[in-house]
Amino acid sequence: MERLQKVIAQAGITSRRKAETMITEGKVKVNGQVVRELGVKVNPNKDEIEVEGVPIDKEEPVYYLMYKPQGVISSVKDEKGRKVVTDFLEIEQRVFPIGRLDYDTSGLILLTNDGEFANQLMHPKFKIDKVYVAKVKGIPARESLKKLQHGVVLEDGKTAPAKVKLVSMDKKKQTAIVQLTIHEGRNRQVRRMFEAIGHPVMKLKREQYSFLNLRSMNPGDVRPLKPIEVKHLR
Ligand code: URA
Repeated sequence: MERLQKVIAQAGITSRRKAETMITEGKVKVNGQVVRELGVKVNPNKDEIEVEGVPIDKEEPVYYLMYKPQGVISSVKDEKGRKVVTDFLEIEQRVFPIGRLDYDTSGLILLTNDGEFANQLMHPKFKIDKVYVAKVKGIPARESLKKLQHGVVLEDGKTAPAKVKLVSMDKKKQTAIVQLTIHEGRNRQVRRMFEAIGHPVMKLKREQYSFLNLRSMNPGDVRPLKPIEVKHLR
């Protein structure tokens, strides 16, 4: 038995807090009866739960780790018919990506049908480290890399301190490979950070998400997360 608001959040309908509001507003029914009190426990596999008149799915939660190739949209469908991350999974459950990677960015992305888990991981207070490897134009000077480390001012504010490592440089081609670890998740943040120091990104890959990495995976590969991995992410 689980709390009603948790079951609603887990179904991906809304956050737990908003589910509580919906319950007190009388928008939730259990077995045909409106439930307004918080704390009611339900059996998600047996009880019929309706939110604003729509029954919620009783799917088992599933969790996947994917190596997103470049040229794929981090979404469940695309109006322009381009490839989306869920095209790489042959499963019945309707999963969605946790956060997003740009169309041109490759790397590690998680997929799930557990809305509450996704909301948790994306919440800024969780500060999950994400490790990116960027090929950039030009060879950044030490002071420029220091700026990334301390935070650079972007349109939407200063970035939080980051870890930065110059991995290699190609003096002839005037390019460099830089590893950047951030825990924020603003739109196109890594690209904008490098742009801010005058070294635009030519190629970008997310190599790590928290303790998870892409070891022995190829672009397009997907694997289920182990229960222990899901537990450690929570
Ligand atoms: N930062 C970016 O600029 N792009 C991504 O895809 C992810 C992080």
